[in-house]
Amino acid sequence: MPLTSGYILRDAFAGGYAVPAFSVHSEAMVDAILAEVDALRSPVLLQIGQRAIRNGQMQVLAQHIARSAQNVRIPVVIHLDHCHQFDQVVQSLRAGFTSCMMDASSLPYSDNVQATAAVVNLCHAVDVPVEGELGAIGGVEDDVAVADEDAVFTAPDAAEKFVSETGVDSLAVAIGSAHGMYRREPKLRLDLLREIRAATGVPLVLHGGSGIPREQIEASIQLGIAKINFDTELRLAYMAGWRAGATSYPDDPFSAQCVANEALRQVVRDKVDWCGSAQRV
Ligand SMILES: [Zn+2]
Repeated sequence: MPLTSGYILRDAFAGGYAVPAFSVHSEAMVDAILAEVDALRSPVLLQIGQRAIRNGQMQVLAQHIARSAQNVRIPVVIHLDHCHQFDQVVQSLRAGFTSCMMDASSLPYSDNVQATAAVVNLCHAVDVPVEGELGAIGGVEDDVAVADEDAVFTAPDAAEKFVSETGVDSLAVAIGSAHGMYRREPKLRLDLLREIRAATGVPLVLHGGSGIPREQIEASIQLGIAKINFDTELRLAYMAGWRAGATSYPDDPFSAQCVANEALRQVVRDKVDWCGSAQRV
C-alpha cells in the first residue's frame, strides 16, 4: 500500500485498541518490523526520532519506508518523533512523513501553545495530523533528559485548553510513564488518564512504552490511549540478537542478521499483542 496518514489513530481510538509506534534506526530494523506487523495484519507507525535524525537518517529511512510500504498489505505511517523545531517539521513533510509530533512541552504553557499551533496550521494544510505534548515525561529520550522529580503529570483542565487552543489531533500525556528502561515498576495514573480523556476527547499517546507491564498497557488503552511508543526495548533486544547472531555465525552475515531480526520480531509480536492491533486490517 502507499503510505497512510496518521489519522488512523482515530480508528484505534474508536475501536478500543492502540497502534504501536516503533522507533526505527536503520533500514534493516524497518524490514524486520514491517515483516512482522504485516504477518500479524497490524497497522503500524514507524517513527523517526531525534537520534536517527542526528545520525543523518531522516531521508534515508523515509525513502526506505515509503518503498517498503508498497510491498505490504497493512497501513504504514511515517511519524516524526519529538520534534522541537518548526524547520524540521518542514523537512519531514518534504521527505514524505505522514504524521508529526511537535514537542514544545519544555516551554512555558503559552509558548508551547504557540509553537504547537503553528505546526498544526502547517501540517493540516497537507493533511498530516499532529501530536502535541503537555506535561513532562520522565527519563531520557534522545536529546532530552527529565529527572524523575521534574516529571510533571498532565493536568486534565490544562489538557482540554491545550487541545482546543492548538488544534492538535492527539496528545502525549505524562501519567507516570518514562523514557528508557524503568528502575522500578512504573505505576500509571489511570485515574488521571480517565479525566484527561473525558476532558479532551482526542486519541491519547503513551510514551515510554518499554517496560510497562501488560495489564497497565491494556487498562490504559481502555481509557483512551490509541498510540504507544516503543523504542528502548526494541533496541536492546535487537542488539542482544546481534551479539547472539555474531557468536553463532561468526563468518555468516546473513544468518547472524536473521538471529537479530528474530529477536526484534519477538518484541514486536508481544507489543502488537498487548496493543490489541493484530488482525485489524
Ligand atoms: Zn517520547
